Amino acid sequence: MAWRKYCWSKRSASGDESLSVRGLLGIQDLPRTEIEAILERAKFFQTPQQRGTALTGRMIVNLFFEASTRTRVSFEIAARRLGADAISITASGSSVSKGESLVDTLATLAAMRPDAIVMRHAASGAPHFLARHLDIPIINAGDGTHEHPTQALLDARTILDHRPTLEGLRVAIIGDLAHSRVARSNIHLLSKFGASIVLCGPPTLLPKEMAQLAPGVTLTHDIREAIAGADVVMMLRVQLERQHEAPIAHSEYFGFFGLRAEHIPLAKNDVLVMHPGPINRGHEIASEVADSKQSVILNQVENGIAVRMAVLERVTVLERGTVGGAA
Ligand code: ASP
Ligand code: ASP
Repeated sequence: MAWRKYCWSKRSASGDESLSVRGLLGIQDLPRTEIEAILERAKFFQTPQQRGTALTGRMIVNLFFEASTRTRVSFEIAARRLGADAISITASGSSVSKGESLVDTLATLAAMRPDAIVMRHAASGAPHFLARHLDIPIINAGDGTHEHPTQALLDARTILDHRPTLEGLRVAIIGDLAHSRVARSNIHLLSKFGASIVLCGPPTLLPKEMAQLAPGVTLTHDIREAIAGADVVMMLRVQLERQHEAPIAHSEYFGFFGLRAEHIPLAKNDVLVMHPGPINRGHEIASEVADSKQSVILNQVENGIAVRMAVLERVTVLERGTVGGAA
């Protein structure tokens, strides 16, 4: 029940419409206990052989209005490992490219009765809009520059594979903060668990307001200062596709904000280097760092499947258990 109530928290906080609330829309309003439950369940699914039958006979629709390979594939694998049928629809191959409105596309899909819809969209808030109209759990797989909740959950799972707790960790998030839904979801999650978060990027890509996003956030434009004493360094890609400003020259960006081998000794000895992908070697991260022993980038990818299994199970099976009983 808590899951239903809290996922679309703005309304659930007031108690309204909580029954229309489903799925996983963001981290910002998700209680710690829910996050902990997902991370714990994901741990169980970490063994690659771990399969489940919880979703046997269920149908998960992946609706991607924006290019994605890794996230879509990760959700597909997660759904199949739980026994579900997974169908992926991408915008260019659907009626969306013929001008069908979002609501019409979704209403058509909903009429086919999927058990959950995983959605990525270039507009911030698109999955929330959908969740208000459909009676099906919606999982946000990235909405504009707003949130990417499963990424933050898999990042937390990855950190917790190497650290006993998130409490008190110093986490540097470096790069294009302005356009990053990954950063926003991570900031909310890490802050709820008492981490201190240092955001670092060029002034054009690091709006001052980001310091107000959550408790424990500070800003700097100096990469060395951001990395000093860090337990975790998360690098972000410059999202040229979302940028309206004139981009900073490649070489200049790497010189100021690229993570290079010389930075690593500034951090804690056992620092974890993370990146949500896709990585641009030589732009925001040097190849030798991406491939170094500190790098957990591929562990993140691997954990993506376990975390998405936990989320799919939670929004479909548990949901049904509460609402529909044996139906
Ligand atoms: N931004 C994309 C995603 O998360 C990256 C990729 O497709 O490889 O899915
Ligand atoms: N894959 C992440 C996202 O979809 C990060 C990126 O694309 O740079 O937001």
